[in-house]
Amino acid sequence: MKKEKVEIKGDVRVRYAPSPTGFLHIGNAQSALFNYLFARHYNGTWVLRIEDTDTKRNVENGEQSQMENLHWLGLDWDEGPDKPNVEYAPYHQSKRVDLYHHYVQELLAKGLAYKDYATEAELKALHDEQVENKIAPHYDGRWYNASEEAIQQAEAEGRSYTIRLHLPQDHVYAWNDMIKGHVEFNSDNIGGDFIIEKSDGMATYNFAVVIDDYLMKITHVLRGDDHIANTPKQIAVYEALGFSQPTFGHITLIYSMATHKKLSKRDQDTLQFISQYRKYGYLSEALLNFIAFLGWSPVGEKEIFSKEELIDAYDINRMSASPAYFDQKKLDWTNGEYIKKLDSAELARRIAELITAAETEEAAQLKELAVQNDLALIEKVGHIYRSEAKTLLDIMKKIIFIKQIATYEFSYADFAAFDREKMLTVFDYLANEVNDLPTDATPDYSALIKATQKATGIKGRDLYMPLNIVFTDSQSAPQINEFMGVLDPQLVLRLLQQAAAYLRN
Ligand code: GLU
Repeated sequence: MKKEKVEIKGDVRVRYAPSPTGFLHIGNAQSALFNYLFARHYNGTWVLRIEDTDTKRNVENGEQSQMENLHWLGLDWDEGPDKPNVEYAPYHQSKRVDLYHHYVQELLAKGLAYKDYATEAELKALHDEQVENKIAPHYDGRWYNASEEAIQQAEAEGRSYTIRLHLPQDHVYAWNDMIKGHVEFNSDNIGGDFIIEKSDGMATYNFAVVIDDYLMKITHVLRGDDHIANTPKQIAVYEALGFSQPTFGHITLIYSMATHKKLSKRDQDTLQFISQYRKYGYLSEALLNFIAFLGWSPVGEKEIFSKEELIDAYDINRMSASPAYFDQKKLDWTNGEYIKKLDSAELARRIAELITAAETEEAAQLKELAVQNDLALIEKVGHIYRSEAKTLLDIMKKIIFIKQIATYEFSYADFAAFDREKMLTVFDYLANEVNDLPTDATPDYSALIKATQKATGIKGRDLYMPLNIVFTDSQSAPQINEFMGVLDPQLVLRLLQQAAAYLRN
């Protein structure tokens, strides 16, 4: 069936509802970003809600990491734990337990929910039997309409109970998904009456999320398509409570190009967490741009979009229903484009920030050398390598090389491809020129190299490639005169002499 065009009208309130069971990963960021873009494009409100009821699985700093990394990406919510709106607060599910309990009681009183005293062993036996008989596992409703006697006996035995929602039979739960189009489930095929309150008195996710979305007046629920199977259960809760329903949209998950399966923690070659992208030198605006294309695409060929341009171009109708493939090459290309465009002082500032944070070996090494305080050096090296760098780490590696060049052991392997006599002529001439410089002068290496060319008649590859090898131990070096300018003239002289001595031996 062809998907109808979605029109967004009226007030818009959307939410990103992470569980602090882990740090902000690429899939979380995708879902946060699309909610953000939806809110900003359609002039709505973006709510951050923390779904922290699974206390056993919560990780220390999980919530803080989620918030810090969202901020780093430039995603600012309008309401959340730190920006409460009294009408909707609190924003932690753990602080809303009484609300859930209240609605569970209401359903119990209406006979739409009931207590289930089945033991875990009984439930397991039921499950195993169904699997054995090749029936889809489901709760069989054994405690629905239980006799007063049975209930009293279970109570007398001190059995604990869960509370289940009673589902109508052969009832269709359907919705017009903003991304997937028409989706429907039959109430007979969603696992039977499901638990809405656990034996510890805590509401389950499928129940709490409905209460929260309803009370927080969420208009559009935009989340990963791993939640599709939860949606009929949530609709069942909306129907039981007589609540109006939000519009649902399920975002495609991110897939690995290598395995063609959804990205998982086992995919070693893909960084999982946003904090890793930061520490390995990806720019937040590049990452944001890249993530926006994981499940969405604009009209036209343009690929580099600022946050404002994304907000402007965003259209829920251009969300893709098919898998989004994580393309590392594309990410590196995008990051490179942003590095090229970045103001050079800002580029230096970002690198200094990474050095100060010292979260990689390279950063720690540069911090030891106090490079974070030498913005002029960072800026110069940034300028030399920005057009080829894929990440800030690439530039940092070059700074490390430059800082250690005095003790670096050159292999000079690439000299083999060039004429020895010509090289010696160039090195000797240039060394003399450098030697003759007044001590307080800032050398103009471009002019000195040109003078060498003129005097020796050696030019092009024969002139530049050997010089690249002298200073970088490789034939490929961008703007060798700029590179030389970063070094102390004494060191330039020494490296020229060292190379000449190598050739003479
Ligand atoms: N807490 C849920 C999760 O982390 C969010 C579910 C939802 O958006 O409804 O997947």
